[in-house]
This record gives sequence, structure tokens and C-alpha cells, in this order.
Amino acid sequence: MKRRLQGMGMTSRRTRERMISRLRQQGIGNGKVLAVMSEIPRHVFVDEALESRAYEDTALPIGHNQTISQPYIVAKMTALLMQNRALGKVLEIGTGCGYQTAILAKLAEQVYSVERIAPLMKKARDLLWELDIKTVGFKHSDGGWGWPEHAPYDSILAAAAPSEIPEALLQQLAVGGVMVIPIGTETRQELHRITRSEDGFIDEIIEPVTFVPFLSGVSH
Ligand code: SAH
Repeated sequence: MKRRLQGMGMTSRRTRERMISRLRQQGIGNGKVLAVMSEIPRHVFVDEALESRAYEDTALPIGHNQTISQPYIVAKMTALLMQNRALGKVLEIGTGCGYQTAILAKLAEQVYSVERIAPLMKKARDLLWELDIKTVGFKHSDGGWGWPEHAPYDSILAAAAPSEIPEALLQQLAVGGVMVIPIGTETRQELHRITRSEDGFIDEIIEPVTFVPFLSGVSH
């Protein structure tokens, strides 16, 4: 890992800048999100064999049948949560390799991240520590339960798609809070932004997306 962090020279910075201009062309206008994505090395979150593809706008395998979300989706979800507001205290469901977690950590007051596959959670936790990102709480659990001890959350981001929103996540969203979550079947999903007001929940459908399924239970 040390070598990979040190080997992060001009080439990868240039490649990262290309990723940023592509995100701008794709309609991501939030300067804070783009600045953080240009700062965090994405290649250290994937296997060495895939490093050269880390800045392509694609999901890549991270083992255990899971994928690192494509840069556009990471940027889009973060920007949706930050529209006209601060992230505040964030709950993330589906840590995966921890790339989205790192982006959130740079922008939020506090991040709590839940992952159901233990080895993924541990790897992400160690990597973020090495990147000197030390403000994230990690939990090995089924995110369908949320993380009640730290609720309510100002922002909730789910990186896996349930067929409907788990009740616990709605309950753990603060009044005035915002959740972005893909909802649908394995083949057809839409990204939703749910805003909690005094009188209930506002549900906006943003665009069609493809995520891995939201699974229940944990894996060791
Ligand atoms: N943002 C992550 C996405 C990883 S893919 C990244 O870029 O790496 C989605 C992740 O959600 C997977 O790691 C999967 O194990 C996890 N996941 C799926 N259902 C879950 C659940 N019920 N609770 C917690 N994590 C879940």
C-alpha cells in the first residue's frame, strides 16, 4: 500500500483531472464535490491489476461479487445530498471498498458506514486510516437496520438497491434530512431522493441506475 500511495505521481493526477472534466460534462456542477474527487486517489481502492482502469467512468469488481460505484454515480449522489445544504451527520449503507466513504468523510461533519460483508468493511477501514481519514465510524451489520445509536442522520446514502426503502432508514432520517437511495429490482432501478419534512416524506425520482442488490443478513 505504501508503494501505491507514494507511486501516485503526475500521471495519476492528470488522469484524475480528466475524470473531473468528464464529470463536469456529465452535468456535475458542485465544485466542492469535484474538488474532493480530484484529491482522493481512486486507484488505491481497487486491486492493483485494475489500477489503470480506476479513473474510467465504470464500476469495477472489488471481490465478494461487489463493485466500486462508477465516478459519475458517486459524484451525483453526493451532489444530490449537498444541494443547498450541508451534509451534516451522514449514514452510509454499503461501504464496499470505501471510496464513496472517503469522499463523504472529506465533506461531512461525521460519517457512519455500515457494510454486511466483514472483509470489505475491514479493508475499507484500514485503507481510510492509511489515507489519514479518521473521522468515520464503521459497523459490520445489515444496513436494513440502519445504525440506531447515532440517529437521527442529516444525510443517508445507500449504495445498494432494495425493492423498497427499509423502514428503519426512514425513521433514522432527521426532519429536514435527505436520503439518496436506488430502489428497484435487479434489472430495473431508479435513484430516489427522499426529503423528510415536518409533515412527512417527499420522494423525487432522479434517474435510472444500476446498483448491486441490497441483501439482508451479514456475511463473515
Ligand atoms: N460505494 C461502494 C459501493 C459498493 S457496492 C463502493 O464504491 O465501493 C454496494 C455495497 O453494499 C456492497 O459492498 C454490499 O456488500 C453492500 N450491501 C448490500 N446490501 C447491504 C446491506 N443490507 N447492509 C449493508 N451493506 C450492504
